[in-house]
Amino acid sequence: KLIPIGSPVRTQAIINRYFVKAKKNLGQNFLVDQGAIQGIVQAAKVVPGDQVIEIGPGIGSLTEQLLLAGAKVAAYEVDQDLPPILQTELPQEIKGQKLDQVFKLIMKDVLKADFGTDLADFFDLKQPVKVVANLPYYITTPIIFALAESDLNFTSLTLMMQKEVAERLAAHPGSKAYGPLTIAVQTQMQVETALEVNHRSFMPAPKVDSSVVVLKPLAQKPDVGDRKHFNRVVKTCFAQRRKTLNNNLKVFEKDKEQRAQLLADLGLDPQIRPEAVTIPQYIELAQKLSHK
Ligand code: SAM
Repeated sequence: KLIPIGSPVRTQAIINRYFVKAKKNLGQNFLVDQGAIQGIVQAAKVVPGDQVIEIGPGIGSLTEQLLLAGAKVAAYEVDQDLPPILQTELPQEIKGQKLDQVFKLIMKDVLKADFGTDLADFFDLKQPVKVVANLPYYITTPIIFALAESDLNFTSLTLMMQKEVAERLAAHPGSKAYGPLTIAVQTQMQVETALEVNHRSFMPAPKVDSSVVVLKPLAQKPDVGDRKHFNRVVKTCFAQRRKTLNNNLKVFEKDKEQRAQLLADLGLDPQIRPEAVTIPQYIELAQKLSHK
């Protein structure tokens, strides 16, 4: 029985055999840590029969463990060098099923995915899916928003990303990491940090550590009104983080008295800073500024 793809020796053997060079511009850092890989599979609570979309399978270290956990995996990848490696190195038979019955490789930029069309012949789309990925970090936030806005019926997104981005997703008001990204995501999804992964768990090792975050659609999404307007209000309020909310609000309301009244109506301290304002308060603020 072969040792896992995501172990340093096997990964090195694959690199030598196929002359793999990790492509920096595609965010390629391959996982070589079984603890981290199992951590991701467990965080996603993968059970046999799960329909899993993977983004960026690379040489298959996470894909292999998803398959062994009994998932059916559809993987989006853009690197044309990888299909022959995946087809050869992934287990050819999993629990009595042939690889192509449980694994579909979709050679397409995930940001251009049309999930309904791409997956119709492989998944039962009446049933929910899970997304599991060690993301290409250069497009972490576009991927999260693309998934959130897609018509995909997902129960969870289990995503490895830079630790610093994970901290922003999970942040609470009053903390340094709390900002427009926190608010854009938390008004749509529940955010939980599952585990942290040291940069040495990757080959090649990136400069920064990573975290695995589990995102779940909120049972009841707050009504933010027009989302574009809401995001613009929040971004504007944080444009100068170190100044007061009052100061940042000058963009919307030039009149000092009017601004004072606005803050008073919201029950906010005139000196409050943008990072101390809660999400419900931002929703109310955006409502009050809806004509601006
Ligand atoms: N899953 C592998 C692992 O954990 O070792 C590889 C993860 S690596 C951080 C990110 C992967 O995403 C690479 O295989 C890269 O080629 C792929 N990728 C980059 N841009 C992509 C895109 N726009 N759509 C789909 N995959 C992409």
